[in-house]
Amino acid sequence: MSKVVKFGGSSLADAGQFKKVANIIKSDEERCFVVPSAPGKRFPDDTKVTDLLYQCYEKVLTGEDFAKAFKPARERFDGIIKDLGLDLSLEDEYVKIGKDFREGANRDYAASRGEYLNGIILAKYLGFEFVDAAKGIFFDHEGKFDADVTNACLGAILERKPRAVIPGFYGAMPDGSIKTFSRGGSDFTGSVVAKAVGASLYENWTDVSGFLVADPRIVKNPEGISVITYSELRELSYMGAGVLHEGAIFPVRSANIPINIKNTNAPEDAGTLIVPNADDKPSKYLITGIAGKKNFSAISIEKDRMNSSKGFMRRLLQVLENHAIFPEHMPTGIDTVSVVVNSHELDGQREKLAQRIKEVVRPDHFEIIDGLSLIAVVGRGMKSAKGTATRVFAALSHADINIRMIDQGSSELNIIVGIEDADFEKAIQVIYDMFILSEQE
Ligand code: ASP
Repeated sequence: MSKVVKFGGSSLADAGQFKKVANIIKSDEERCFVVPSAPGKRFPDDTKVTDLLYQCYEKVLTGEDFAKAFKPARERFDGIIKDLGLDLSLEDEYVKIGKDFREGANRDYAASRGEYLNGIILAKYLGFEFVDAAKGIFFDHEGKFDADVTNACLGAILERKPRAVIPGFYGAMPDGSIKTFSRGGSDFTGSVVAKAVGASLYENWTDVSGFLVADPRIVKNPEGISVITYSELRELSYMGAGVLHEGAIFPVRSANIPINIKNTNAPEDAGTLIVPNADDKPSKYLITGIAGKKNFSAISIEKDRMNSSKGFMRRLLQVLENHAIFPEHMPTGIDTVSVVVNSHELDGQREKLAQRIKEVVRPDHFEIIDGLSLIAVVGRGMKSAKGTATRVFAALSHADINIRMIDQGSSELNIIVGIEDADFEKAIQVIYDMFILSEQE
């Protein structure tokens, strides 16, 4: 059985971090396939290599000489090679990149060289084979990730390699040009590789020991989450809990491969295990996590006999779709509906949207309420437990926080409340206290 291990930028920021990574890989025979990010920040004010490469691209575009623009990125790679004492020169690669730039390589190509070059260094350091992601990870003509072709090709390539390094973040378009995933996309590559090789586990190594029940910038020293299901994680990451790239769970989820989030700087910590199903792993607390986002707006509509007006919702949603606005939630009453949307989606089109809604559905009352925050309280344990919602509401009301909206999915996996932005931090804290602090022995 093999494991796929992905290391983020901070895990590979300098030679010292490379050494930790090599120790981790060498300590488990099953860690056969390695997906690196580009070197990240070494200290808070440092610049990630990916950002250096984007800057390099812009500079060359505005006429700066390639060698000069590329120098800051180059120095990072040469520094790592030197500090590791490797017998490796990337000179030919740099020449090739310069040539590709002159021949009009795109911005994604520029950014992808961070992972590409770092992959070459790591493969050399580990004694693993280097497999260019452009040979096995593909996008279709529309630029959409091509899961089927990738899975087949990458699987066939890696089947013949006992140990390999596959750089994260990019793949190839049908014409051979390079395309990257969105920022943080090496997580996605790791997941794709895990699926292609049928891994027993996808380890995602980063600089924190997994997910926390709540944002540590709001709650002091929050508890860690030891086990979480894919569905719970989806709910939490959608609502802003970071650590893993949003799309990264899909490939492994479809193949039933668990993900373990681990800390390169504290490898003995268990981290968070993300599993398809946690029926046999009861969570320590009734809830698994709390996450939230600010800056939502509620488009609030009242209309007499709305409930019997055929096609009302369809017409309303059509107007939103025509303005490229995505409804996040839609709590309804008999004669009322509120569509909760991201406030920024209204930018520049508020007046037009209001006018169009008034024309199309002729509401008795129309209002856009800004400054809403949404908080999701997520937990697989809620399904079988009574009183979860009561406790959320009690915590909020006790803290004098007004609830503007309530939504509970039919899966009973989460309860979402809408409150005012000003109450956001306080709300997360009191919900945490209610479910976690009060249950701690
Ligand atoms: N290096 C890329 C970024 O900074 C991708 C990644 O690290 O996952 O976004």
